[in-house]
Formats: sequence, structure tokens, C-alpha cells
Amino acid sequence: MSVADGTDTDPGAPRAEVITARDVPLGGPRAMNVRRTLPQRARTLIGAWCFIDHYGPDDVGDTGGMVVAPHPHTGLQTVSWLFSGEIEHRDSLGTHAMVRPGELNLMTSGHGISHSEVSTPATTVLHGVQLWVALPDRHRNTDPAFQHHAPERVRIDGADVSVFLGTLAGSTSPVRTYSPLLGAELLLDPGASVTLDVDPAFEHGLLVDEGAVTFAGTPLKRAELGYLEPGAATVTLTNDTDDTARSILIGGPPFGEEIVMWWNFVGRTDEDVRQAREDWMSGTRFGEVKGYDGDRLPAPEVPATRLKARGQAH
Ligand code: MN
Repeated sequence: MSVADGTDTDPGAPRAEVITARDVPLGGPRAMNVRRTLPQRARTLIGAWCFIDHYGPDDVGDTGGMVVAPHPHTGLQTVSWLFSGEIEHRDSLGTHAMVRPGELNLMTSGHGISHSEVSTPATTVLHGVQLWVALPDRHRNTDPAFQHHAPERVRIDGADVSVFLGTLAGSTSPVRTYSPLLGAELLLDPGASVTLDVDPAFEHGLLVDEGAVTFAGTPLKRAELGYLEPGAATVTLTNDTDDTARSILIGGPPFGEEIVMWWNFVGRTDEDVRQAREDWMSGTRFGEVKGYDGDRLPAPEVPATRLKARGQAH
């Protein structure tokens, strides 16, 4: 297949690899489905990003919307970003916040937090992403926290860019992270092509939400994730359609640590996550989510076999 745009793509430059999503039922009355592109057998991390769930647009009349009962997290940050709809967040710090389109809600679990996520009655169409960031070992037992940020949209070469973490297109998020990170939403005009300066130390991922986008020489369809290895000083995105295309660009330097991910926990060893599960089931460590109408989520059984640490692509 020839290079999609054919004009400003350096034929010798690394091209993005395509990672396809698998469907995962999230739970709720009629089991809303999400498209998960990370982690995958072939790839655990992009920078510190360790989890990508992409959902909707779903008519909540059909799916029942999002109903996730109180559940725990360790060793990570959750990034909630909506395109449409509204989600009510409650956590064991006492935070009660609404997640709304174009606004970042970043929850740091550190040593332990619990939260619930429920789409509001006003929501008719639910559409967004939830991403997780692994905390580096020296910060993974930090205190839990919750941050909110509504970035300004910046305009560059036919693209509207909302930077929720890190720096892109001259826009910098004030939100604190524990390793260098990039997270941004990009809206590309029909046919638009934009070249953005990026940190060559970063690896990048582009998740296409709507439309079709060529990313670093590789055409990506809706719900696909493109992965680009470190080394690029710029990335070029081209909207191959006659409608606005929307995507999420993430990045960070290779994490350099192996992690054990199981259920809602990120640890370093099998023992870490078994202990976290035990603490959740015994009602310690993760506090209490007040104001949620219903029971908390029980943890599944941990597999009898030892959970393996995973890290760099193999
Ligand atoms: Mn959660």
C-alpha cells in the first residue's frame, strides 16, 4: 500500500504500528461495552500510559449507561475524558465531581483510593475514554488526590487541540504528573494535515475516536490505536475524511519499569496485588465512598498462578 498522503511523509521515517481494540463488557444493567486497546499482549505501556478504554457514542436508553459501583485502585492515576454525556464521580476522599466533555478529571490512587462512576440521568449519549497512568515506583504509594482541569482549545493548521496533560502546540497543562506525559484531544478539520512538535524522547499513541486519520504515515480507522516509537521530533496527522476527525494523542518516555496489572491494581509484584485485593475485601486501606446508592464491587478471585510483571514490548 502506498503512503496515504504522499506529500510530506519522509519515506525513511518510522511509521506507526496499528493496535486494534477488543470489546470488554463494563457491567451495569445491560452491560455497556468498551473498546480496550491497552494493555495488549504485544504492548503493556506507552510511556506511563497503561490502560485505554474507549466507549460510545452509546444511547444510554439502550446500554443503561455507566454504572460502576465503588471499587479500589492502587499505583495509578485515572484520566477521565468525555466527548459527550456526564458522569458523577464520588471517591473515598469525599470528592463529589461531575465529569464533563472537554474537562480532565484526574484521580491519583497512590497507596489506595476507592471511587464510583455513574452516568447522570441527564445523559442521553455517553461517549469518551478512560485512561490509566502507572505511577513510577518511587511515587506509587503517594497520597491519593483528585484534580480537575478544563484546558483552553488552541488552533493550529486546521486542528483544535485541547492539552489535558503535558505540552503540545504551545499549550501546557498545569496538572501535576509523576513522570513526563502528554495527553491531548485533537479535532482535525475535513482534509486537514497538521505537523506538531513533540519530544523525541517520547513514544506516542494516537487513538482515533471519529473519522480516519493518518498518523506518522499509517492510516488508522475509528477505534484503532497507532503506536509510534521514540525518536520523532514531529508527528503529522492527516484527516482522510470530509468530516471533522477526532483523536486522542498520548505520549511519554518509555516507562522503564515492569508492572503487575490485575483488576484495578497496578503493583510491582504478585504479592502487591494479592495484598491490595485482601485489603479491599477486608474493608481496610481504601476508605469509603459516601453517597453511592448500592453495594461496592467485590474483587474477582486472583488466578492461582503467579501474576507476571510486564513492561516493554517484546
Ligand atoms: Mn475506577
